[in-house]
Amino acid sequence: MSQVDVPSVGVASMPSAGTDAVPIPAFHVMMKPRGAICNLDCKYCYFLSKEALYPGSEFRMSDELLEEYTRQYIEAQQVPEVTFAWQGGEPTLMGLDFFEKAISLQQKYQKPDTRIFNSLQTNGTLLDDDWCRFFHKHDFLIGLSMDGPRHIHDTYRVDKGGKPTFDTVMRAARLMQDHEVEFNILTTVHAANAKHPVEVYRFMRDVVKTRFLQFIPIVERDNDTGYQEGADLTNRSVTGKQYGQFLIKIFDEWVRRDVGKMYIQIFDVSLAAWSGQGAGLCIFMETCGDALAMEHNGDLYACDHYVEPDYRLGNITEIPMMDMVLSEQQRAFGQAKKDTLPRYCLECDVRFICNGGCPKNRTLNTPDGEPGLNYLCAGYKAFFHHIDGPMKFMADELRNRRAPANIMTHIKQREVEMNTNKQFATVGRNDVCPCGSGLKYKRCHGKKGNKTS
Ligand code: SF4
Ligand code: SF4
Repeated sequence: MSQVDVPSVGVASMPSAGTDAVPIPAFHVMMKPRGAICNLDCKYCYFLSKEALYPGSEFRMSDELLEEYTRQYIEAQQVPEVTFAWQGGEPTLMGLDFFEKAISLQQKYQKPDTRIFNSLQTNGTLLDDDWCRFFHKHDFLIGLSMDGPRHIHDTYRVDKGGKPTFDTVMRAARLMQDHEVEFNILTTVHAANAKHPVEVYRFMRDVVKTRFLQFIPIVERDNDTGYQEGADLTNRSVTGKQYGQFLIKIFDEWVRRDVGKMYIQIFDVSLAAWSGQGAGLCIFMETCGDALAMEHNGDLYACDHYVEPDYRLGNITEIPMMDMVLSEQQRAFGQAKKDTLPRYCLECDVRFICNGGCPKNRTLNTPDGEPGLNYLCAGYKAFFHHIDGPMKFMADELRNRRAPANIMTHIKQREVEMNTNKQFATVGRNDVCPCGSGLKYKRCHGKKGNKTS
């Protein structure tokens, strides 16, 4: 699979038992039980190269480590809901037995008054009835990676032999629907689909028939290390402008017919931000550092996008996970997101939602030459400006305990009004009156004293 999604995270405000002044973060770990190992070879995947970090490894989380991880992770969480997030590489390569074991360990260590959830990101190619029965039984939320209809999806999402994967992924979606497994589609936005936003959106809505979508921009560094270094990007990457236009086109369709029916992650987090609740997604938060990643051997890293030696915090068999989460190194990593924001961002009118975006994408200089501007800035700015009016309307509906979906009627009425005004401006005296009466304009609104709006 292509590890490309970004987690929602929150921060619990309660103080730690042993560290009075330090708030305990409701942190989130993306667990990679098979490390970077995957049965596909997606051309833009940023994680396959991480195999080089562990030469000679079997890339298989042991049962002992699974137990240690489960115990520490549950113990460290000071919130009523604990989510285990399974990623890769391709996590289903661990086999079903591993996940049966994971569930029984979660039950063993579950604290009273807490609920445990599992999410798993997959390329879908290994799913069968047994997997789907298991996911359904244990309420897994599945993320399925799919980039659009066949001619788009198969551009970059190929197997180890370079063969297309579209049919197997569609099969996975159907299987999950048959078994009533909850899933969302994770679509990456890149050079091959950036110009086809509406086609991609309608395909997901009308053919795949999903209601939950994420659109993740591919911003892929062009270097030999696979680390977040250098400013060159591959030609598979989407440009900022393209990403903005992609979101705008889909938003325009969604806001006219699908509000309350289709859930698009970036639209949802935008509404949360416009409603004053904060975006709740790490890329748009002021600071980061609460969304970590763990390799198959227990090594904990600052973030899924920074699985690199400089961002390794330690190993959970040697240092308690919580100590690493609260470590100065990790807090500094999170704080740097805010502290390195260029003036251009500080003065930006959409900073309340954008916050400069993910640091991994800050490869540009601002117009006045300051480093640290997000490569996607032009797109973010265009998109957030475009949705400002509708977002204000929907946030207002929410505040007044009305459905944000009322925006659809509001837009329709406004468009009818504007259309009618336009017709009145050009109607001839003997034309049919634009008001719909069927009378000639001169005998209806064209009569002296009659108003046209
Ligand atoms: S670097 Fe920060 S904002 Fe970017 S994905 Fe990681 S946690 Fe999220
Ligand atoms: S839109 Fe651009 S300038 Fe504004 S906060 Fe985001 S990255 Fe910075």
